[in-house]
Amino acid sequence: MLSYWEQQSFHKYDHIIIGAGIVGLSTAIELRVKYPGSRVLVLERGLLPTGASTKNAGFACMGSVTELLADLRHMSEDEVVALFERRKRGLELLRDRLGDDNIGYAATGSHELISKQEEYALDKIDYLNSLLKPVTGQDAFRRVDEKLTDLGFAQAHITALIENTCEGALHTGMMMRSLVDYAMQQGIEIKTGVEVVSYEEDADGVTVYTGSGIDFKCDTLCICTNAFTKSLLPEADVVPGRGQILITKPISGLKLKGIFHFNEGYYYFREIDGRILIGGGRNEDMQGEATDELTVTDTIQNKLEEKLREIIIPNTPFEVDMRWAGIMAFGDTKQPVIQQFSEHVFGAFRMGGMGVAIGSLAGKELVALIN
Ligand SMILES: Cc1cc2nc3c(=O)[nH]c(=O)nc-3n(C[C@H](O)[C@H](O)[C@H](O)COP(=O)(O)OP(=O)(O)OC[C@H]3O[C@@H](n4cnc5c(N)ncnc54)[C@H](O)[C@@H]3O)c2cc1C
Repeated sequence: MLSYWEQQSFHKYDHIIIGAGIVGLSTAIELRVKYPGSRVLVLERGLLPTGASTKNAGFACMGSVTELLADLRHMSEDEVVALFERRKRGLELLRDRLGDDNIGYAATGSHELISKQEEYALDKIDYLNSLLKPVTGQDAFRRVDEKLTDLGFAQAHITALIENTCEGALHTGMMMRSLVDYAMQQGIEIKTGVEVVSYEEDADGVTVYTGSGIDFKCDTLCICTNAFTKSLLPEADVVPGRGQILITKPISGLKLKGIFHFNEGYYYFREIDGRILIGGGRNEDMQGEATDELTVTDTIQNKLEEKLREIIIPNTPFEVDMRWAGIMAFGDTKQPVIQQFSEHVFGAFRMGGMGVAIGSLAGKELVALIN
């Protein structure tokens, strides 16, 4: 039951966004840019964002050689190049908006570890460089096997190394903290701990019902709930995909710097604060990891430890400090869904493993659909 005052001042908004991940917050910011002075509210079910945006590895990734080659088996060259470009533009937007110092961004480049079975990819480097050149303006990839010895990877498993000059790393916590602060400075209201359970649309707009029993009204509703979208849009083509991570305690004498991928991007690791963060391995148990449960499993965590022990830092003892999981969203294609669903309802979701790079642009593209 609302009071007269609450009804007058807290109930009606121009725009409501569901989900306070990178896409929801970017959408809210873009709405304030397009409609200055409009009332914008973000509703988030967790006390913190509770999906992927505060759980990820912080790779500003455009795609590794084996990942892009895998994409080319399902997508046309034009689609692959266009997606690469959107990731690049999304990252530029994020960096311009928040500033590199505030998101801990470093243009480290990245490296892909190539195993004996993946050596076919080495012959495709020139092809990918010329395919992507209109977007990158330079060669994105080059072979740098000479670095292998210094980096100390197990040479029984890794026979070549490819550098990607387009990628970088950021500090996920700093990035999301800065994005929340920036949104609030723009006058955007963010209410956390509020789960949206349903909504109803009529000619005047949308009524949004929450688990707290209080409802809100708005002219436009933007659904930015990524892996959790089906509860609000049952027809959406979205399948959850859990991503698991572990981080070691500081390792003395650690030589690794920067960010690394292997196995078509299914595994990734980086140095941070003298530790190694490693994640991925979803391909080891695709069915089990097609879940939205925010828990870790022995199967995947053991695989992550095994990769550390056998490939990344063989002969170097390490202790695991923390383990966690986040939930990504996938679908029939790798393209994000950015769409108008009805007169007043819009959605941007299904960011796969690339939301850090593309998420800011997804917000911009969604708001471009709203009149
Ligand atoms: C382990 C892991 C590692 C990753 N590493 C990288 C990486 O290195 N680089 C990269 O580019 N991408 C990476 N990703 C993917 C990236 O994090 C995501 O693509 C991106 O964060 C998606 O952002 P989003 O805003 O769409 O979704 P989310 O961050 O999931 O936000 C959706 C929000 O909606 C909220 N919500 C859902 N339902 C409701 C409801 N009914 N009511 C209210 N709120 C609701 C959720 O709580 C959540 O906070 C990784 C993901 C994971 C899990």
